[in-house]
Amino acid sequence: MAAVTLTNVVKRFGTFEVVHGADIDIADGEFVVFVGPSGCGKSTLLRMIAGLEDISGGKIAIGGKVMNDVEAADRGIAMVFQSYALYPHMTVEQNLSFGLRMNGNPKADTERRVKRAAEILCIDELMQRRPKQLSGGQRQRVAIGRAIVREPQVFLFDEPLSNLDAELRVQMRVEIARLHKELGVTMVYVTHDQTEAMTLADRIVVLKAGNVEQIGAPLDLYDDPANRFVAGFIGSPKMNFIAAKVVETSNSAAIVELVNHGGARLRKPLCEPFPATGAEVVLGVRPEHFFEAGEGGCDIPVKADVAEHLGSVSYVYADAGSEELIIEREAARQRASGDHFTVSIKAERSLLFDKTGARIR
Ligand code: ATP
Repeated sequence: MAAVTLTNVVKRFGTFEVVHGADIDIADGEFVVFVGPSGCGKSTLLRMIAGLEDISGGKIAIGGKVMNDVEAADRGIAMVFQSYALYPHMTVEQNLSFGLRMNGNPKADTERRVKRAAEILCIDELMQRRPKQLSGGQRQRVAIGRAIVREPQVFLFDEPLSNLDAELRVQMRVEIARLHKELGVTMVYVTHDQTEAMTLADRIVVLKAGNVEQIGAPLDLYDDPANRFVAGFIGSPKMNFIAAKVVETSNSAAIVELVNHGGARLRKPLCEPFPATGAEVVLGVRPEHFFEAGEGGCDIPVKADVAEHLGSVSYVYADAGSEELIIEREAARQRASGDHFTVSIKAERSLLFDKTGARIR
């Protein structure tokens, strides 16, 4: 069993606290991705799991064993870095086998493990090359191979695809997903790329300024974010936020008026506690959740500013009074820059947040 459990984990650099009591349970065999903006503490968390960074408070356990004082080499983990960290003077084969040879692993077993890793990653033909004779994608494969040969209980990935071009990133992302299926071991993966997080993760941990904002399956976070930060971070293009005001609450609903759209109103069914009448709130609407005018929603006239046509979908960046909205349209409903049109939002396809960013249910 290689579950990873973080209990009230705190990290301070000097007096500066960068992780404020993280509680994260990662199940055996699960693929968990840490995401969040730059500086939120995701690499620090990963490095604490790896044992490359001391923890200032709390507890980290791997496979049920507390690891706080266990050396990195004895934690049963292998880490893959963005920078590959290959030995330039060694061949691929030597890079793969080096750690095992240094540990005195039996020769036949080392050969078996190297061969298996090479097969899994399709790098059999590169074994006699040196890192400088490899492409970026091939180097990253070798770096992953070095982790595989260790046969770890847990793989840790720190932004492993950041140095690759867009096409290779997609290709390697699929390979990592396949690797997880094939090996079935626990993987913890750090990225600031929410597409990587959405596509790879069984569950995503969203971090902000050293705090865990929400943990959940990708589509649960997408459909049911706990707060405005998670709503804005998960999803590309981003959720639209539209300023509104509560004008009335009655019969399990709040009537909200859009502040910048000529008094347009929406009836939003809610549970108690209701927000106060007069409260400033924000409506969150995903780009794909705008409807055609006249379909029974709350109408907003807009003017297309920039239209991006990607083939299967189009995105229109539209001016709506003092707000800019990103609207996804089917290709058949493309709009050109400068077009005036009306979109509509519906209560069941919008989320409501209070002034602090907390979700109003
Ligand atoms: P990025 O996406 O930019 O890599 P991150 O979310 O991985 O960011 P961390 O590298 O974990 O963020 O850093 C979290 C905070 O801790 C940042 O404010 C960073 O400046 C600080 N920090 C990281 N390492 C050290 C260190 N060795 N000494 C002091 N502060 C540090």
